[in-house]
Amino acid sequence: MWNWLSDYNYDFALATIPIQLILMTVYYLRRQLPTRQSRSFWWVMMMNIIMTITDIWACELNEVWQEYPVSLSYGLNIAYFLSFILRGWLLFVYASEVVNAPRRWGRRYSWGGIIPALLVCLMILSTPWTGAIFTIDPVTGYHNLAYYNAIYFSTWFYILASVAVLTCCRKDASVRLQAGLYSSNLILAVGILVRHAFMNTLVTSFFSLMAILIIYLTAQNPDSFRDRMVDVFNKAALGGMVSELLIKEKQFSCLGISIKNYPAFKTFYGPNTMYKSLLDIGKWLDKQFKDFQVFYMGNGQMVLLNHVSDYSDVQGMARKIEERFRYPWSDNGGAQAALGINMIFVSKSVPKKNARNVEICLEQAFNEAYRRDMTDVYVVDEALLEQMKRQEKVRRILGKALRENNLQIHMQPLYSVKEKRINALEILARLYDEELGYIPPQEFIPIAENDGDIMELGRQIFAKTCHFISEHDLDALGIDFVTVNISPAQCLNYNLGDELERIAVRHRITMDKIRLEVTESATGDMESLLEQMRRLKNCGVRFLLDDFGAGTSNIVRVINLPFAMVKIDMQLVWAYFRSNSNILLHVMHMFQEEKMAIIIEGVEDKHMAQQLAKMGCEYEQGYYFSRPLPADELVVFMESHRDYSWLD
Ligand code: C2E
Ligand code: MG
Ligand code: MG
Repeated sequence: MWNWLSDYNYDFALATIPIQLILMTVYYLRRQLPTRQSRSFWWVMMMNIIMTITDIWACELNEVWQEYPVSLSYGLNIAYFLSFILRGWLLFVYASEVVNAPRRWGRRYSWGGIIPALLVCLMILSTPWTGAIFTIDPVTGYHNLAYYNAIYFSTWFYILASVAVLTCCRKDASVRLQAGLYSSNLILAVGILVRHAFMNTLVTSFFSLMAILIIYLTAQNPDSFRDRMVDVFNKAALGGMVSELLIKEKQFSCLGISIKNYPAFKTFYGPNTMYKSLLDIGKWLDKQFKDFQVFYMGNGQMVLLNHVSDYSDVQGMARKIEERFRYPWSDNGGAQAALGINMIFVSKSVPKKNARNVEICLEQAFNEAYRRDMTDVYVVDEALLEQMKRQEKVRRILGKALRENNLQIHMQPLYSVKEKRINALEILARLYDEELGYIPPQEFIPIAENDGDIMELGRQIFAKTCHFISEHDLDALGIDFVTVNISPAQCLNYNLGDELERIAVRHRITMDKIRLEVTESATGDMESLLEQMRRLKNCGVRFLLDDFGAGTSNIVRVINLPFAMVKIDMQLVWAYFRSNSNILLHVMHMFQEEKMAIIIEGVEDKHMAQQLAKMGCEYEQGYYFSRPLPADELVVFMESHRDYSWLD
């Protein structure tokens, strides 16, 4: 074996070198996001390897210093000390980046953080003249000097500072990230103690390597920033990149591409085939537009990000993309069909608050482009930004209303054709705000569904319905039943039946006067919906299929569920009266064959009301009879609208 000059034990340091090199190679070969976090981690690894090599080399040289120029000894020892200090500081920078500390505390924090390392580095660099840290004596060789401990002071400082920053900004990091960073700092601290206990063994770089490995596995694995199937950066990477650009106050623009009807393609061709197409698309975009980073957002949506281009620059690019999409992405086994796309553009000048805000903006723009069926690129404009602002406002108002149990209910009468009187009510949620007035449910129900508040909203509306029933004599008012809307997400809640029953019991009412309105989209998960319906039916609740004919109807599925009634979507009804569609007749006929009672909504005039009665529907609902009313107005309405014989 090799004969070492010095008595130091290099075993740990030598073992560190190949492992560190392997890690660096793997890290280098996978494309990294150009963020400070990734870069500082790369430099930590770099410093660790420089530190290890210079440490061994300097220790050896210090044994035979007389045979070489003294400047070489100084140079090597200085290189070792500098890499030692910079490694400690970079690990601190890395931890700060992970928890977004510079964004929270600004530039002063970043500059403040570098000062201890800078001072110690200056001391190291001045050592040949000042003798601050060490000396190379012509006769006795290497010796530590008065301020040698500054090296350890700096190391301890950065370990403690990292722990303090992590503790302050815990909320910005996942438990996995926190565990990784806390334990890596602990290992660094143990490394210093072990080094002190075994002065003759070089262990510091080995402990650093362990800390680096932990970070690599918990936070910095390049694969966690890439989409496994599409092999471009993922949504998390976009979040990291956007945060970084915002910290640096750099403007950037995004070009988004969304495959139209992606879920349908996925069902038709199967996910694997679609991933093959997406893989081709990702590769092509990466190759064609080298100045852009490509991100896959899921759901057939890609985003290209860059901080120089503006709309005029990307118009040609959009045309090129459009042209390529005229042909299928099937070279490597992807879908055979040409995939239609919508494109969106968020320009540099659009104000951006944070990563989440940018994500929402992209999402809204994709929705808007799809809704408008745009053939051109949809450029995010003032209107969309206003819409986003309003949505934020509505979100706040809804949150407050839910916390304070302040949602309201209005009721819309249902006219019974057979009994020639109003005999039922539909309960509709209302959100009121002093500034915005009544906010329509179409605006706040999707927000509640998105934010996971729909269960609570459903419970509160149901409780208010129960309260209304318990406070009023429905029989005296002539009301046979009351219908309540429940959203698809609520239907999937396994405890729905128990929850509703508990609320009814609390209000001392039975549920036999309640019908739940379920929309067709809720019929997706048949098994669990059937189970819910069965349990609720045992408590006397009956079900009504809402909005039939809106969206893609699946008649087979619908017929198999125990619905006693069906409400036909008003678009279908209006289309019939505009004389441009007879589908209504066929749909009504079909449900009549199935012996399901038909409710028609959107009845707006006398002619419609009379015609529909003749066509055999059982209930009619619409502005012709009444708009949805608050409870007190409804009571007055019911008392003054008992006779409908004139409708014949
Ligand atoms: P929906 O269940 O189909 O309710 C009928 C909607 O049509 C109501 O709108 C009603 O005001 C409106 N409408 C009734 N008659 C006419 C008419 O003659 N002409 C026109 N143009 N419109 C008419 P609203 O109250 O804005 O509710 C919209 C939707 O919001 C509801 O559609 C329902 O899907 C949802 N929603 C309302 N309340 C709740 C709730 O408590 N929970 C859930 N999950 N969804 C609710
Ligand atoms: Mg309804
Ligand atoms: Mg409806």
